[in-house]
Amino acid sequence: MDHQGRQARLRNELGRSRLDGLLVTHLPNIRYLCGFSGSSGALLISEGKSVFFTDGRYTTQAKAEVQGARVVIRRKAAALAAAEWMKANRTSLGGKRPGRLGIEAQHLTVAACNQLAQALASNFRLREAPPLVESARMVKDAEEIERVRAAVLLGAGLFDCALKAIRPGAKEVEVAAEMEYQARRAGADQMSFETIIASGERSALPHGRASDAPIPATGFVVCDFGVILAGYCSDMTRTVHVGRPPNEARRIYEAVREAQQAAVAAVRPGVSVGEVDGVARKLFQYNKLGRYFTHSTGHGVGLEIHEAPRVAAGQTETLCPGMVITIEPGVYIPGKWGVRIEDMVVVTEQGCEALTPTSKELIAIA
Ligand code: ZN
Ligand code: ZN
Repeated sequence: MDHQGRQARLRNELGRSRLDGLLVTHLPNIRYLCGFSGSSGALLISEGKSVFFTDGRYTTQAKAEVQGARVVIRRKAAALAAAEWMKANRTSLGGKRPGRLGIEAQHLTVAACNQLAQALASNFRLREAPPLVESARMVKDAEEIERVRAAVLLGAGLFDCALKAIRPGAKEVEVAAEMEYQARRAGADQMSFETIIASGERSALPHGRASDAPIPATGFVVCDFGVILAGYCSDMTRTVHVGRPPNEARRIYEAVREAQQAAVAAVRPGVSVGEVDGVARKLFQYNKLGRYFTHSTGHGVGLEIHEAPRVAAGQTETLCPGMVITIEPGVYIPGKWGVRIEDMVVVTEQGCEALTPTSKELIAIA
């Protein structure tokens, strides 16, 4: 991974944001910038240098993983260690007094922020930094896309486990357990979120994580799942029907499939994410299902399962080659049923490539 290049590009952005340095505390941002995959650390990026702070539990790991930054091990919270180091080395950070230190306000607690301000005393002023790293992460390089591709393929394979495990009377958690066991066996770091197996009336819950409930003799089962492989996430949804689907169920399923395919077809460079969302939403409105589509059409995926851009109404972000997003419209009729279909796509020069290889034909499980 091109960690040094990422840090260099971020350095250029710092000047434009009128910051002398950025204290990166959000772990996925740290991993993106220097490769560290542990659970505690802080990365200081300033004009002239990069310094990574962590504690003794990660001495070996940090030395093996961190690229493009000096590693400092301290026996205290990483952000606090960074603050103390900055105070002691303030001349090497541009020497301007007081310096302007950007923080990731979205990812810092009020308590941590107060602690930082106190430790930096009058030497630095804290500034809420724009989402510089998140913006950079939106566009994936070739190596990242290969990792996403591998995660998507591993994730898609789990759908076969689900199909084998779904039958009337089986508990939703049993289906999820089979999938998760297979995921670990196949090399996944972990699931990218709590597996959703939502059957019968529960399929109308957009986030119906697998419960103790037995799968009823007839009805939809929404399966939404993903894995993390080598740091990168996958995310997909398929909805199957247990028993013979009534005509109304078929109609809803086809409406969701049509909206999903139309939204995928709308993905290309230069189009805004809001427009992609609008394509799915308009089709549902046309089919008199608009009020049952209660969430956004998709989201970016990468080191995090939900990252920028949000593919939602009113969002103006423009798609560019290398962005990886989900397209996942759904229809939820409370107390009755729900259907969602989700694929991951990568934006290409001409349009997009669907990464999820799984068929979207309605599957009826006898
Ligand atoms: Zn999903
Ligand atoms: Zn998703």
